Amino acid sequence: AVQKLHELYEANRLLNEQEAGVFLRQIKLLESESYQNAIESSIANEKVNAAYAVMINRDELVETFRHLEEPVIRRRINDMQEISNRLIQILGGAAIRINLGDEPVILVAEALSPTEIMEMDKDKLLAVVMHHGSAVSHASIMAKTMEIPTLVDVAADDEWDGKTAIVDGYTGTFYLNPDAEIQKEYEIRLEADRREREELLKLKAQKDETKDGSNIGLYANIGNMSDLSSVLFYGAKGIGLLRSEFQYLGRENYPRENELFLAYKKIAETMGEKLTVIRTADLGADKQAEYLNIPDETNPIMGNRGIRLCLDRKRMFKAQLRAIFRASAYGNLALMYPMISSEEEMDEIEEIIREVKIGLDEKGIPYKHIKTGIMIETPAAAIISDKLAEMVDFFSIGTNDLTQYTLAIDRQNEKLDEFYNPHHEALLRMIQMVVDNAHKCGKWAGICGELGADATLTEQFVRMGLDELSVAPSMVLKLRKIVREMKVEE
Ligand code: PEP
Ligand code: MG
Repeated sequence: AVQKLHELYEANRLLNEQEAGVFLRQIKLLESESYQNAIESSIANEKVNAAYAVMINRDELVETFRHLEEPVIRRRINDMQEISNRLIQILGGAAIRINLGDEPVILVAEALSPTEIMEMDKDKLLAVVMHHGSAVSHASIMAKTMEIPTLVDVAADDEWDGKTAIVDGYTGTFYLNPDAEIQKEYEIRLEADRREREELLKLKAQKDETKDGSNIGLYANIGNMSDLSSVLFYGAKGIGLLRSEFQYLGRENYPRENELFLAYKKIAETMGEKLTVIRTADLGADKQAEYLNIPDETNPIMGNRGIRLCLDRKRMFKAQLRAIFRASAYGNLALMYPMISSEEEMDEIEEIIREVKIGLDEKGIPYKHIKTGIMIETPAAAIISDKLAEMVDFFSIGTNDLTQYTLAIDRQNEKLDEFYNPHHEALLRMIQMVVDNAHKCGKWAGICGELGADATLTEQFVRMGLDELSVAPSMVLKLRKIVREMKVEE
């Protein structure tokens, strides 16, 4: 890395000595004892590989200084991020990121994978505009979690490169070369948006309770560790869905049990008493990595994905379960399973959990008896939810998949958007049925699909008896406001 930085310095110094100075600054940082010691101690103490040690060290520093605006510190953090990324790449620990350049930009692409979105430097990404994908495809969901306004079904044109544009994620509008009047209008809207956010932040520590005393917990959905700070920032009651599969993507091989454990432990410790629901890896379909070697399928959405893949690859599944149980000793974790469609799958999981616990007991590794839940994402699970309710502690309804499987509409296909109706009566009836079946058994039920964040339905959800809604972190306070201003009886 040092050699490469020297080369870059030499190549750039004649053009702009001052700008090229950044490479010298980065060499100094890279060679500093404090930087190297931090990484070496992660390797020695936590037994992680070098690339991973560089990564956690980078993420921790970025997280710690995230809210500091002091220019010198910002510059140092930027340098630190850049040298770390360079090192990780050299160590073979990560795919090359999309280079967004130095200035914040609107990224226009044919299509982006969820991993590509997640790996992007959030501070340099103003908005995303894609040709393919839908509002409930994972790339859009990840962008939403990161608070990046995103548009889909917009055919890009090379001519747009370098031009000014406005992306309005609320109305789904893209303005290329906006005139002065529109720019002015959007500056006013942006300011209003900022003010609204400040107002909402006052509700951060308030309860999710209606005026007449009904409760519905507002939780956050996250995809990776860097979303943790926004969960706390927006005062979510906990994490209702951790999409754990993202730790398996954008890499060359399965994550090891210890790597998973360290990540879950960090989450458990950061969240303290607040609940974190870890959804076991929902891989397959649109969440692929080469090393997973999932054979080609005619219809991957209905293929070997979610719990099916886990039950098919027990070593992988057990490693994750062991990591979750080990981490449970450090906080308040719960487990849930994606894509369940039968009681037999639950029986099989129970058997595996038994084996995992025996293994931990034999080694004297501490763990808690954590609560478990089922994601209701298939019509089959919704229909037999009376029986499934007896097998677990809670349900979380994954409306993104439940909608696609109920209406037989691929959630990724932007051409079918007009048919993808998450307000369809069939779905609302199923949600009611699941809630009632859970309650009959004394269990709780929530929604973690995107429909949970649909503010036009929040009051209805409270009246339907839902106990929890898990949404993008930035939506928590908007929903809290609605809940606190309503009466169930009205
Ligand atoms: C869902 O299907 O609604 C869900 C929450 O899971 P994912 O969006 O990750 O498939
Ligand atoms: Mg799903």
